[in-house]
Amino acid sequence: MNAKHDPAMPDYTHRITLANQRALVTGASRGLGAEIAAVFADAGADLVITGRDAAGLEATRRVVEKKGRRCLCVEADLRTVKGPRFAGQKALEFFSAVDILVNNAGVVFVDGVLDTSLDHWEETLNVNLRAPLLLAQTVVPKMIEQRRGKVINISSLASVLAPEGHAAYSASKAGLNLLTQAMAAEWARFNIQANAVAPTVILTAMGRQVWGQPGKGDPMKARIPARRFGEPIEVADLVLFLASPAADFICGQVIRMDGGLSAV
Ligand code: NAP
Repeated sequence: MNAKHDPAMPDYTHRITLANQRALVTGASRGLGAEIAAVFADAGADLVITGRDAAGLEATRRVVEKKGRRCLCVEADLRTVKGPRFAGQKALEFFSAVDILVNNAGVVFVDGVLDTSLDHWEETLNVNLRAPLLLAQTVVPKMIEQRRGKVINISSLASVLAPEGHAAYSASKAGLNLLTQAMAAEWARFNIQANAVAPTVILTAMGRQVWGQPGKGDPMKARIPARRFGEPIEVADLVLFLASPAADFICGQVIRMDGGLSAV
């Protein structure tokens, strides 16, 4: 939207809106992506959502449509080259242009450096790093034409720290941070803002996979100054802000959301 402040409109909080924006959110069949889609719909956006799990996508679509917004589900496997390009093309067919791209889909395998198989390395890099590039290559040219857009990449605190057993994951998310900076540097002149969000543990399916056992999760929680993990809605709130006109001058940042973990 990127609307400038209207002095006739005294309510500054109106700038945190996505009214009539067209958003593409990957990995919205569950977890953070489903939460982001629901919050975006509340804020007035129509959605194209992607994933492989048709039932999960349908559940998210029902939530979005209940809020009065349009929603198209696209099944696409982001491990492939074809998948992200297909998802981006479908979004362009549905909307004609995408205003907001949220690269949220991600995978993690709990492997140390020496144990990382080539299969896990490739899947992690392809889903977490190559797919955001291919999706952006598909939808950003239209953003450039219309001279406005937002790209929000869901990174991780593991992009700046190296938690044990996250070798491929940390490498992929660190790459995503720098890809975000490259996007921001190249596209800011076209009024497109690219930023990344870097949360610590959120107890989605992925969070539970890695940190769900009390023996592992409790010591991690104890290291976080806030003494708790994050909530999906807290990530979605930040993504909403970054997608809104209130964030039009925020560009190329990796915003940590970690209850203070990286501050100590
Ligand atoms: P999640 O619950 O496991 O959901 C992951 C999503 O990614 C699912 O919708 C899944 O859809 C999609 N996905 C995975 N592989 C895919 C593939 N090959 N093709 C298409 N879609 C694929 O994880 P989450 O916690 O919501 O994670 C969302 C993002 O936040 C990820 O990028 C993750 O790295 C990041 N993050 C999570 C945490 C955390 O603690 N949870 C912390 C920091 C960052 P399908 O299964 O339907 O394909």
